[in-house]
Amino acid sequence: RGLSAGEFFLMFQPQVDASTGSPSGVEALLRWRHHTRGLVSPGEFIPVAEETGLIVPLGQRALEMACEQFKLWQLQDVHTRISVNVSARQLQDPHWLESVDETIQRTGMPPHYLDLEITESMLVGNPQKVMDTLDTLGQMGVTLTLDDFGTGYSSLSYLTRLPFHTIKIDRSFIQHIDEKPRRSIVQAIVAIAHSLGMRIIAEGVETPLQLSIVRDLGCEEIQGFYISKPIEAQAIEPWWRMQLGNVGVMVN
Ligand code: C2E
Ligand code: MG
Ligand code: MG
Repeated sequence: RGLSAGEFFLMFQPQVDASTGSPSGVEALLRWRHHTRGLVSPGEFIPVAEETGLIVPLGQRALEMACEQFKLWQLQDVHTRISVNVSARQLQDPHWLESVDETIQRTGMPPHYLDLEITESMLVGNPQKVMDTLDTLGQMGVTLTLDDFGTGYSSLSYLTRLPFHTIKIDRSFIQHIDEKPRRSIVQAIVAIAHSLGMRIIAEGVETPLQLSIVRDLGCEEIQGFYISKPIEAQAIEPWWRMQLGNVGVMVN
């Protein structure tokens, strides 16, 4: 009902280059404005949507809204990569790949501006079909990010077998990055990613200290409250311009 009533919308969280602060992308995050309950967080509705299978049409709607938003930003001369989260149920849906392709064609979304975030727990067991789907997306020019890295099995084998462009280090590592054991693990993840030709984005950066540590460890991009909370689509254009004006002004 919420879907057909148009109660779902996207918020966008900016991502920036860790050394210069230059804006690099946004992550699309679903929100539900329920007609009586008000704003419901994805932590509440995504698990239910996953259980019921409704995540398939909901995730499709998120992708469509992201591609439509891309076009509106282009008119404002904001050319930003958009990352969209994908759920396991979508990956396993036999028609998903087709609907991604159809959405890209219909909206005119340039595939290299679209990034799909996939959580590592979805890859457990490595079903061949999922691997083929991800390969096809890579061939279409869509980039893939391994989300929440470090929280699941962190199997190194799929890093070599799947066409990931970026590894997103989970917030739980960044939170305690000032402690030696976490820092060592992040350092090792960065080394592995770089030697495989992948980029690193640190998620959940909240303080200048965390920023300077992850940057010194070689993370290319950062996302987190220190840069910006998720904001409404209309707020991205002014943020983008302000951030462009501040390039180079990052803390030491
Ligand atoms: P995620 O993909 O790992 O998204 C990052 C979450 O971390 C977002 O929460 C964001 O608001 C939060 N966050 C970002 N920076 C910081 C920070 O510095 N500090 C703290 N404390 N939190 C930060 P949000 O928007 O509540 O989303 C939660 C999760 O819901 C997402 O985690 C994602 O797994 C899921 N989700 C959201 N939208 C979608 C969607 O369209 N499809 C699917 N399948 N899942 C979605
Ligand atoms: Mg994500
Ligand atoms: Mg994440």
